Amino acid sequence: TRIHAGKIWLNGELVPQEEARVSVLAHALHYGTSVFEGIRAYETDEGPAIFRLEEHVERLFHSAKILRLEIPYTPEQIANAIVETVRTNGWKSCYIRPLAWFGATSLGVNPLPNNPADVMIATWEWGAYLGEEAVRKGAKLVASSWRRFPGDVMPGKAKAGGNYVNSALAKMDALAAGADEALLLDKEGYVAEGSGENLFFVKNGVIHAIEHSVNLPGITRDSVIEIAEDLGYAVKEAYRVTREILFTADEVFMTGTAAEVTPVSMIDHRPIGTGSAGELTMQLRKVYLEAVTGKRPEYRKWLTFVK
Ligand code: PMP
Repeated sequence: TRIHAGKIWLNGELVPQEEARVSVLAHALHYGTSVFEGIRAYETDEGPAIFRLEEHVERLFHSAKILRLEIPYTPEQIANAIVETVRTNGWKSCYIRPLAWFGATSLGVNPLPNNPADVMIATWEWGAYLGEEAVRKGAKLVASSWRRFPGDVMPGKAKAGGNYVNSALAKMDALAAGADEALLLDKEGYVAEGSGENLFFVKNGVIHAIEHSVNLPGITRDSVIEIAEDLGYAVKEAYRVTREILFTADEVFMTGTAAEVTPVSMIDHRPIGTGSAGELTMQLRKVYLEAVTGKRPEYRKWLTFVK
C-alpha cells in the first residue's frame, strides 16, 4: 500500500497497519454494507486539532442507523478512540477515516446476522485532495453521465460504502475526460453534488448553497455557511439548480473535508466568471483554513485539541 497509516484502531485496540486485517468474507466487502467518515486534524500552535469531531461522529451514527448497523460503542467512545489514534501516531496533521461494517458471520444478503459491526479508525497524512493546481487555478468539472441516485434507491444522507460505487464511476470518468471532478446531476438534470463535495455558487454578491434531498449533509458546507454569514454575506439555500445557473454564475466552489474550499473555474468546457479562482471563494477558503488551524478564536468551538 502507498497509504502509511501507522497504528490503526481496530475493534478497541491500536495495532500496526500490517496487523489490522479483516476477513475476505466480510459482508461489507461483498455488498458495500459499511458506513464511514472523513475527518481532518490540522496543525495548530497547540498541537493537532480535529475539526468538528462531534458532528462527524454524530453523522457516523446516523449513517449506521440508516443501515441498521449496530456500532458496539458509544459516540463518546468513538470520539475518544479517534483522539487516541491521532495522538498515538504523532501526526501534526492528518486525515481520519473511521469505518464500521457488517463483518463475516453470514454472507446472505440480509446483513443483520453480522451485527454488531466491526469498527476501525485509520489516520494518514493527506494534502490537497484535488491537487494544488486546482486550488490555485480552479478545478474543472464535467457533468457525469452517471446520475446521482434518488433517495428511494440509495440512502444519500448516509455516508455508506455502497453509495461510493456511484461516486467512483463518476470520478473515474471525469478524470478520463480531462476534468478534476464530476458534477453529479439527479435523474431530472438538477445539480446534486460532486463525487465527494457539496457545491455553492455566487451571483451578484449572494452566496447560494446548493441543497438537494439526495446530498450528503456536508459539515464543511455547514461551516462555510456560518463563516460567510459572519463575514456579512447573504447566504441562501438553492434548490432545483440547473447547469445553466452554474454556467452563468459569477463564482462556483466546492466544499468537503478532503477538498476543503476549492474554486471551480470550468464546467462542461465553459469558463465560470473570470475563468479562474473566484475572489469571494478565496476569501472564504482563507477564513476556513484559519478556522481549522485555530487562528480564529470565534471558531475554536469547532476544534478538539489532541494534547
Ligand atoms: N458529498 C459527498 C458525496 C461526500 O462524500 C462528501 C465528503 N464527505 C461531501 C458531500 C462533503 O461532506 P463534508 O463536508 O462533511 O466532508
